[in-house]
Amino acid sequence: MDHASREENPVGIAVVGAGAAGLMAAIWAGRTAIDPGRTKDSSTLKSINIVLFDTKPKIGAKILMSGGTRCNVTNQDVKPSDFQGGPSHFVKHVLEAFTPQETIRFFKEIGVELTLESTGKYFPVTHSAQTVLEALKREAKRVGVTFKTGVRITEIQKAAGSFHLKSADGTYHVSARKVVLATGGLSYPTTGSDGAGHEVAKRFGHTIVPTVPALTPLLTSDSDWKILSGISLEVGLSFSALGGRNGKKESECRGSFLFTHFGFSGPAALDISRHFSGAQKEKHPQIIANFLPEHREESLNVALQSARKKNPNKCIKNLLADEFSLPDRFVETFLKKSKVSGAEPIAKCSSENRKRLIRSLCHYPLEVTGVFGYTKAEVTAGGVDLKEINVATMESKLVDGLYFAGELMDADGRIGGFNFQWAWSTGAQAGRSAGNSCQRGVAVA
Ligand SMILES: Cc1cc2nc3c(=O)[nH]c(=O)nc-3n(C[C@H](O)[C@H](O)[C@H](O)COP(=O)(O)OP(=O)(O)OC[C@H]3O[C@@H](n4cnc5c(N)ncnc54)[C@H](O)[C@@H]3O)c2cc1C
Repeated sequence: MDHASREENPVGIAVVGAGAAGLMAAIWAGRTAIDPGRTKDSSTLKSINIVLFDTKPKIGAKILMSGGTRCNVTNQDVKPSDFQGGPSHFVKHVLEAFTPQETIRFFKEIGVELTLESTGKYFPVTHSAQTVLEALKREAKRVGVTFKTGVRITEIQKAAGSFHLKSADGTYHVSARKVVLATGGLSYPTTGSDGAGHEVAKRFGHTIVPTVPALTPLLTSDSDWKILSGISLEVGLSFSALGGRNGKKESECRGSFLFTHFGFSGPAALDISRHFSGAQKEKHPQIIANFLPEHREESLNVALQSARKKNPNKCIKNLLADEFSLPDRFVETFLKKSKVSGAEPIAKCSSENRKRLIRSLCHYPLEVTGVFGYTKAEVTAGGVDLKEINVATMESKLVDGLYFAGELMDADGRIGGFNFQWAWSTGAQAGRSAGNSCQRGVAVA
C-alpha cells in the first residue's frame, strides 16, 4: 500500500475483524443482500457492498490453530450455563436465534460436513481447521464480500449518519453506512486481536466489563509437580474464593489435566482458570483437585476396603497404580507430597494414614500462583457490556448502525466448541440485522 492518505469509495457495511465472528457477519450480511426475496433490483446489490477488514494480511489464524488444528466447531449441547460473563437471558436469546443445529446445517451448505465425537464436540470430517476457514472465505466471496486485509482500523467516528473509518497508519479512510465490530478480545495477540475494538467501543460510550484471560494454563511454584511434565490424568477441580457480591464464589469442572513444566494445563485446568483469573482480587482463591473424580471420600473409603480384602499384601503404591489406574510417576510424587508411605501393604495401613490418603486423593489443594495470561488464553473474559446491545439485532443501544459480534463482547464459553458457537450465533445475527437494515435504507433511498 502507498503511504499517501486516500479516501476509498463509501461502502454499505464495513465488518472490522475477519475472525470467525466477522466472517460469519459478512457472509450473512451478503446473503441478506443477494436474497432475491428481499431485493429484486440488482442495482441495490452494488450499493450494499460489504467490506471485511483485518489487520493481518492472512486471515483466520485462530480458526487454524483451534481444536489442535482440527477446529471444534460447536457442541451437541450448548446452554447458557456453558458461558460466563453477561446476563444469561442474553446468551440464551443469541443461542436460540442461531442454534448449533443451524450451525451444522450452515457448514453443510458451504461444503463442510461435521462429525460428532463421543465428547459431544463437533469437528469437520476432514479433521482439518483449514477446511472450515477455506469454506468460510469461499462463501464470503460468493456472496460478494470484498476482503481488505493488512488494514488495522483503529478510528471510527460517526457524522451525518455515516461512519468514518481510519487505519492505524492514517493512510486508509473509508465511510460506511453500517459497521460490524468483530475484533475479538485480547487473547493470543499474535493472531491480531489486541483489544483495539474495545477502545473503539469505549469511544462510542460503551462500557467495557474488565477483561481477564480465560481458558489459559495455571502456574504453580510447586516444583514437585513440575517434574511430572507431560503426564495427564482425569481430575475433578473445584474453585472457591471469598469475596464478591455473594460472599463466596464456587465452581467445579471435570476433565483431562496435564502437568507441565510451568504448572497445569489440559481442558480441566483451562476451564477452571477463568474463575481463578476473574477472582484474583478476592480473598483466598483456591483450586482443589480430586485425582479420582469418580469418587468422593466415602465411596473411596469403601473401594479401598474392598481392594484391601482382595489384595491385603499389595502395597499402596501398586494398588493406586493397578486398581485405580493412576500413572506410576504421579503416584510416587503424590504419596511423597501427601506424606503417605507407599511401600506399606494396604492391610497394614493405619486408619490415620488411610484417612490422609483418602483426603489427599479427593481434596488436594493445588498451589496455584496465577494464570499464564493472554499469550496462551484461548479466550478473553469481559468486554463490551451486553446490557448496551440489542439482543435481537446485536446493534448498539447507544449508536444506531453499529453492531457487535464475537469475543469482543462480555461472554466466554468453556472448552468444547462453545466459543465458536458464540461467534457463529452473534456473527449471523449481526450480519443479518446490518444487511436488513441496509436494505431498508436502499429501499427508501
Ligand atoms: C489456541 C486456540 C484454540 C481454540 N480452539 C477453539 C475450539 O476448538 N473451539 C472453540 O469453540 N473455540 C476455540 N477457541 C476460541 C475461538 O477461537 C475464539 O473464541 C473465536 O475465534 C473468536 O472469534 P472472533 O471472531 O470473535 O475473534 P478473533 O478470532 O480473535 O478474530 C478477530 C479478528 O479481528 C482482527 N482485528 C482485531 N483488531 C482489528 C482492527 N483494529 N482492525 C482490523 N482487524 C482487526 C484480528 O486480526 C482477528 O483476525 C480457541 C482459541 C485459541 C487461541
